[in-house]
Amino acid sequence: FADRDGVIWFDGELVPWREAKTHVLTHTLHYGLGVFEGVRAYATDCPELGRSGPCIFRLQEHTDRLFRSAHILGMKMPWTKDVISEAQKTVVRENNLSEAYLRPMCFYGSEGMGLRAENLKTHCIVAAWEWPSYMSPEAKELGIKIRTSSYTRHHVNITMCKAKANGNYINSMLALKEALDSGCEEALLLDNEGYVAEGSGENIFIVKDDGIIYTPELTSCLEGITRDTIIRFANELGLEVREKRITRDEVYVAEEAFFTGTAAEVLPIREHDGRAIGSGKRGPITEKLQTMYFEQVKGRREQWPEWLTPAR
Ligand code: PMP
Repeated sequence: FADRDGVIWFDGELVPWREAKTHVLTHTLHYGLGVFEGVRAYATDCPELGRSGPCIFRLQEHTDRLFRSAHILGMKMPWTKDVISEAQKTVVRENNLSEAYLRPMCFYGSEGMGLRAENLKTHCIVAAWEWPSYMSPEAKELGIKIRTSSYTRHHVNITMCKAKANGNYINSMLALKEALDSGCEEALLLDNEGYVAEGSGENIFIVKDDGIIYTPELTSCLEGITRDTIIRFANELGLEVREKRITRDEVYVAEEAFFTGTAAEVLPIREHDGRAIGSGKRGPITEKLQTMYFEQVKGRREQWPEWLTPAR
C-alpha cells in the first residue's frame, strides 16, 4: 500500500506517497492515541444541477468531527479546520481521483516516549485513494450475514465513544476478525449492559412495528455522519425514527436491518446469528434509503447542496 505513485498531504506539504514516512518511535504507534476520519468523494454527474467532477460528501461535518475527537483526547491541533478541509480537496485533485476514500489522521510524533505525553507535537496527514466498495458489490443488494460479537463495545468511561480515536479500533478489529473467522461478514457489538451498539465500523438501524425505524442512542456508538444522513432522509420521507435501546433479539425479529457508514455506505443485513432478518433479503425501506443515499452522494438530488464540496 505504501509503494505507489501519488502524493499525501503531510504537515502542510504534499509529499510523494512513498516518502510519507514517520519514525519507529512515533508516540501514537506505541500507545494508539490519535484521531482520524474516513471520508468519501464521489464522481458527480448531474449537469442539470450544475454538478460534475468529484465532490467530497459532508466534508465540513467530517472535519468538525476530527476536531471534536482531538478536543476530547486533549490533542492540540496545529492547523485550522479550513486548512484540513482544503487539504482533503487537494489530495483528491492532486492524485487525479474521480472517486476516493480520504483518510485524515492526526498523531503524536517521536518527540517523546512517556505516557505523560509532554512536548509532543500533533502531526497531520491526509491521504486519498480509490476504494470502490467496502463489501462485495452484491452485498449492497443481497445484504450481509452478521454475528453478535463476544467483544463488548467501548464503555464511555474506558475509551470515550464520541472520539474517532485510533486505539478504539483494536476492539473493532478483534470483533471483525471473529465475525469473518466464523463465516460472517460483519460483527454486531453490544454495549457493556448488553444492548446493541454498532458494527465494527458502522451504525445500525432496524425497521419494525410496521415501518418504524429504530437506531441505538449515541451513548456507546460513534456519531455517524451516514447515520445522520439516513435520519434526515427518513424525515424527508415522513418515516418515523426513534432512538432507543435495542436488544439483540429485537434485531432477530426486525422486519429489516441495515448498517450505515462512510466506507460501508448503506448495507442491508440479511442474517444475524443464523436467523434470517425479515424476508432474508434487502427490505423496501432499506432499498429506498439506500437509493436516496447513492442519488445524494452522486449529486443527483436537489436537496442538501451544502453536503457536496467540489474537489476540483
Ligand atoms: N461506528 C464506527 C465505529 C465507525 O468506525 C464508523 C465509521 N466512521 C461509523 C460508526 C459510521 O460513521 P460515519 O457514518 O460517519 O462514517
